[in-house]
Amino acid sequence: TDDRALIKSLIADVQDFPKPGVTFKDITPLLASPQGFKAAVDQLVASAPGEIDVVVGMEARGFIFAAPVAVALGAGFVPVRKPGKLPRPVYEEAFALEYGTETLTMHRDAIKPGARVMVVDDVLATGGTIGATAKLLRKLDVNLVHVAVVMELSFLNGHAALDETGIDSYSAIL
Ligand code: 5GP
Repeated sequence: TDDRALIKSLIADVQDFPKPGVTFKDITPLLASPQGFKAAVDQLVASAPGEIDVVVGMEARGFIFAAPVAVALGAGFVPVRKPGKLPRPVYEEAFALEYGTETLTMHRDAIKPGARVMVVDDVLATGGTIGATAKLLRKLDVNLVHVAVVMELSFLNGHAALDETGIDSYSAIL
């Protein structure tokens, strides 16, 4: 589609960031483009399978896409945050990074059990972030009906990690 071509043209490859040998997908040109940002949000919204009660976004770039998607869907927005940021009791889920671990947290009462939830992030790389988010959502006993990202780095096999987590509805714009 025209949207896909536009979105693709606005994501820049940055070599050797954040460290040598890594090519980072920089979405800031996409965000800075009125047409591009709208196209990305529209595509994420269009991927939603029916009614969504809550859109969940992960700190930090996930917030940028998940919040406008929530408004467009008439859903609420719930943040997944790094440790020490949320003020009330949280669930935590740790996952492995290349070096060390990362932990994500959610308020225990953030979402009503059984709610229809969609997860939105900018980039799927190894799938660790979305996998940990899915595990947090299981602790909250909600219904994770869909995961949508702007871009998938397919060579990292994040898709396999999602399958292991039991996510059966997933879409990437690129
Ligand atoms: P994963 O957990 O799937 O390995 O990594 C995905 C998370 O790291 C996402 O939350 C995403 O924001 C960030 N990330 C990893 N690689 C990139 C990249 O090349 N570009 C951007 N924009 N984010 C990335």
